[in-house]
Amino acid sequence: MEVLQQLEPLMREIIAPQAAQIDEQARYPRAALDALAAAGLLGLISASEVGGRGKGLAEAVQVIERIAQDCPCTAMVLTMHYCGVALIEPFADDEVRRDIAAGRHITTLAVSEAGSRSHIWAPTGTATAAEDVIHLNALKSMITSAGEADSYVWISRATQGEGNTLWLVDSRLPGLSIPGRFNGMGLRGNASSPIEARDVGVPRARMLGADGEGEAVKGRHLMPFFPTLIATTSIGLMQGALRRAVAHVAGTRFAESGSSLADLPTIRAYLARAQLRLEQARLLRDDTVAAVQAARADTRTRLLQTKAAAAEAALEVTDIAMRVCGGAAFRKELGIERLFRDARAASVMAPTTDVIYDMLGKGMCDAAA
Ligand SMILES: Cc1cc2nc3c(=O)[nH]c(=O)nc-3n(C[C@H](O)[C@H](O)[C@H](O)COP(=O)(O)OP(=O)(O)OC[C@H]3O[C@@H](n4cnc5c(N)ncnc54)[C@H](O)[C@@H]3O)c2cc1C
Repeated sequence: MEVLQQLEPLMREIIAPQAAQIDEQARYPRAALDALAAAGLLGLISASEVGGRGKGLAEAVQVIERIAQDCPCTAMVLTMHYCGVALIEPFADDEVRRDIAAGRHITTLAVSEAGSRSHIWAPTGTATAAEDVIHLNALKSMITSAGEADSYVWISRATQGEGNTLWLVDSRLPGLSIPGRFNGMGLRGNASSPIEARDVGVPRARMLGADGEGEAVKGRHLMPFFPTLIATTSIGLMQGALRRAVAHVAGTRFAESGSSLADLPTIRAYLARAQLRLEQARLLRDDTVAAVQAARADTRTRLLQTKAAAAEAALEVTDIAMRVCGGAAFRKELGIERLFRDARAASVMAPTTDVIYDMLGKGMCDAAA
């Protein structure tokens, strides 16, 4: 309750009122982030020893779910920040960690590349060692908070041999550029632009984990957060869509009979189906958090399932919200068409739903072989 109580005035005064402009003007949610920083919520999962709140996945889920109901852009930017923090906390120096804990530093994940596309485990970007400086070269394809974050948690091929390596890259380093501004169909405020790196010099000390161990490091530190929080953005978004759809159908009447849209059994049935999809996704997400906390044997399966289930449910639920609100849903003021567009992203954010289906199906078949 503590974090939610703290969040509510920010939702009322800043995040919800600015949400429409963020979408329409494709504006980065800077004011929302400043407010979250001032409330100590950018440092939510930073350790208390560096001045953070020392909270974990369960509290991050509460924050993201609430924000996504009104502004999925802010929720996704914060999701990427928390994911970056989860990788920075175990490895980076205290100065960076203290800045993050104090809300002075926003980070994000720079994983996807033009070459590897959604196959994020196979980056083509290189890291060439020259004594204590590493030169990064890559074309990242779509990076949330590009040019807005203070740092990027960057994946490249290892400096030597097989495997991948993670780096903490200062976003102001020479050689980094943003070839084009993001003009997306959804999550329009997220500045999810490409980033090009040409011989960007990074100190070797900015390596996160060991050289060549990037996938194992992601598995250990990022995995609990990334799928769960992306799923949670979808879950909050579904709640927002249903809240708006129910308000519209309950308050909209036919002059002919005086009856409301909500008096139509078909409309009520669609809403019930949508609510069921939302609750299924939320229960799976809650069980995923429980699996992470108990280090259960099925944790990896649950993490993959929750991302796919919530992303696909959000496509269905926002489609139903559009349908039951009819032509009115096409208008911006209902707020539903924006959620419909925003909902599309989670399904194609890597690992995409189809890649997850393949991974899970392979696991089932391998177990039977
Ligand atoms: C709004 C938004 C924000 C983003 N933010 C970030 C970010 O902050 N950081 C970051 O690193 N990335 C980010 N991404 C990129 C994202 O993670 C994916 O890498 C990207 O969306 C994949 O797009 P693509 O065109 O390269 O897909 P492609 O790889 O070309 O995939 C096209 C289709 O093929 C399917 N497909 C591909 N491989 C397989 C397979 N093996 N089995 C089955 N089907 C497959 C996919 O599911 C998809 O349907 C973001 C994307 C979006 C849309």
